[in-house]
Amino acid sequence: MTLTSVMYHYVRPIAKSRFPNLKGLELSGFVRQLDYLQSTYNIISPEHFLAHLINGERLPDRACTLTFDDGYRDHFDFVFPELMRRNLTGFFFPPACAIRDKSLLDVNAIHFILASSDDQTTLLRDLKTECMAAGMNPAQWDAYRNSVNVENRYDAPEITFVKRMLQRELPHQMRSSITKTLFEKYVGITPTDFCTELYVTSDELREMMANGMYVGNHTYNHVWLNSVSKNEQKQELELSQDYLSSLGVPSDNWVMCYPYGGYNADTLAILRTMGCVAGFTVKVGTANLATDDPLQINRFDTNDFPQ
Ligand SMILES: [Zn+2]
Repeated sequence: MTLTSVMYHYVRPIAKSRFPNLKGLELSGFVRQLDYLQSTYNIISPEHFLAHLINGERLPDRACTLTFDDGYRDHFDFVFPELMRRNLTGFFFPPACAIRDKSLLDVNAIHFILASSDDQTTLLRDLKTECMAAGMNPAQWDAYRNSVNVENRYDAPEITFVKRMLQRELPHQMRSSITKTLFEKYVGITPTDFCTELYVTSDELREMMANGMYVGNHTYNHVWLNSVSKNEQKQELELSQDYLSSLGVPSDNWVMCYPYGGYNADTLAILRTMGCVAGFTVKVGTANLATDDPLQINRFDTNDFPQ
């Protein structure tokens, strides 16, 4: 019994927006992709998926689920109405801190720095200048340039380097403060104002849930779970569950989505004790529900299908 899951992030009319260079899915492409998926697969509801996992309810052949990561306003403004029009439902995974605390995730700040920069050479130079100002020496910079893996399915090597440096290579304090500086320079909006523009609200999530959409755990601070201690993992997962309970998400038989696809054996052990029944990864492929661990479900990216 196979399941094809599709992962989405930004879905909006990008070309006409203030950020025409944003890496994301053009709304018209999303609409065409739904046509394609509906003609090729049976898109099942989160409710049906959970009934399969909990009670063994049968799934149709070529079952497919739609998953939307990171709690973007795009999902309320564009995805939700389009799914409603088609009588479809999907899974939505907002990081709690972004919605509840209006805290702009560094990963999103980085996306919009990249979207606001016309030229990767200048951006790379600005990153180097900021690193030097923060106390790095040229030999250390060269060591990063030589050691950071810049292979990526979608981005140019310079872009991947900037992303990786700001996402995880630099010491935590340094990468947060450099991201903030570059965000102010390139995007020019205060992070708090930008949050209002970027993320859904709790009320919007409630409205989506009332219409059959599933809202699940994506940790509190959108962390790589495999890079923090077991205690910290537990805290991230519990804080997110607390937030989701305030929205009315049941505290048993719930669904997880690992930020950046990061998890380890500790994560799985914690999730089993917390009543989690399924976890979406970023490992590319179809899931075999008869044999795969439901806490480690493969997903395709939207870019793997016609748009
Ligand atoms: Zn995410």
